[in-house]
Amino acid sequence: MKYYNLKDYQESVDFRAATIKGQGKEKGLFFPETIPSFDQEFIQNLSQYSDEEIAYQCMKDFIGDEIPPEVLQKIVTETISFEIPLKKINDNISVLELFHGPTLAFKDVGAGFMSRCLSYFLENQQKKVTVLVATSGDTGGAVAHGFYDLPGIDVVILYPKGRVSPVQEKQLTALGKNIYALEVNGSFDDCQNLVKQAFSNDEISKQLFLTSANSINVARWLPQQIYYLLALKQWQQTENKAPVICVPSGNFGNICAGILAHLRGLPAEHFIAACNANDVVPEYLKTKKFNPKKAVATLSNAMDVGDPSNFVRILELFSNEFDLLKNKISGYSVDDKKTIQTITEVYNRDHYILEPHSAVAFAVLEEYLKENPGKKGFILGTAHPVKFPDAVESAIQAKIEIPQSLNDLMKKKKKTVEINSDFEELRRFLLNKK
Ligand SMILES: *Cc1c(COP(=O)(O)O)cnc(C)c1O
Repeated sequence: MKYYNLKDYQESVDFRAATIKGQGKEKGLFFPETIPSFDQEFIQNLSQYSDEEIAYQCMKDFIGDEIPPEVLQKIVTETISFEIPLKKINDNISVLELFHGPTLAFKDVGAGFMSRCLSYFLENQQKKVTVLVATSGDTGGAVAHGFYDLPGIDVVILYPKGRVSPVQEKQLTALGKNIYALEVNGSFDDCQNLVKQAFSNDEISKQLFLTSANSINVARWLPQQIYYLLALKQWQQTENKAPVICVPSGNFGNICAGILAHLRGLPAEHFIAACNANDVVPEYLKTKKFNPKKAVATLSNAMDVGDPSNFVRILELFSNEFDLLKNKISGYSVDDKKTIQTITEVYNRDHYILEPHSAVAFAVLEEYLKENPGKKGFILGTAHPVKFPDAVESAIQAKIEIPQSLNDLMKKKKKTVEINSDFEELRRFLLNKK
């Protein structure tokens, strides 16, 4: 499969190059040249296929012969090696729990697939590969886990000191081995700027084989389609109408993958982008004007994005036709007060514990279904409540149980190197780490 650059249609690369490069010229996103359709027989009989077979069928056309079938089969099997249950919260709303993976967030799927593809492609690389990534919390842990203990690859993670939750911090800093955590005296934006400077520095690119694990990488974006199929497989067991699918959205990679799967033939009644106060896309859907803003801080901080980079892919999927897009996607914004209120209500009424991101989606879907009676749907549960204990515990007035897998991690020691938001300090670290 070929991928073209959305900023420069002349630039066209294969899956391997798109995965290694991450992005094209002028920071353009790569986009598949064709959208392969699902076989109707396959979609209508998902229950007759194993999850691993579904994942393989979902991905194979995007990779072509660039990864041998038996290797790709192994990669997708490992990528979804944890349960992804669709649970009913009440009569009309279910949740697809995407947080039973190694770092308890949906990003484990995309990061797990990408890291395995990268390590396959870079196997015979002479230089040691350094994956450099800035994180506001969830991305870094998922990426670190994906690459943990892989030969020939180092991961260097930059995160803003004091601005990630305790669980997130342990997931970044306690693995050790080939995972290095840099605690930056600054904000997430500072971390991102440092990473960008490293990529444009000649001395560094001469000495190191540097690659990013950016969320716009096609190898992170495309595998997210898999769990929409796995959700539908479970949905079909009890429901006969297509679901409304509501996705808590920040950078819009997750919902974009769902829409892609839908355009390939996956039944969906409607898609809803649920946003926090960062409402650039809901505003666009209302006014047809796309006005990026500076991100504001909210309780659902993984969605604090002021200029969602994947939205250009959604536009491309609808050939930039506003009316087509508006027919299929709605967007709503929810503030922190409503988010907390929703966590409290759902806990008391349905006895289900939401975390802030999933709560934003729940609030939005509930409202939508009220206005559109007779429909049912599901939200994507993107993180485990234990990753956001302060907000959740104050909303439900109870302690949340820590999953066993985390207990062991929480006992491990944090190991970081502290740096200032100063490129010279990052440069020195990168060139001197062994
Ligand atoms: C990253 C993240 C999101 C947003 O996903 P996008 O693909 O960026 O829209 C939502 N919830 C959680 C918990 C996340 O970590």
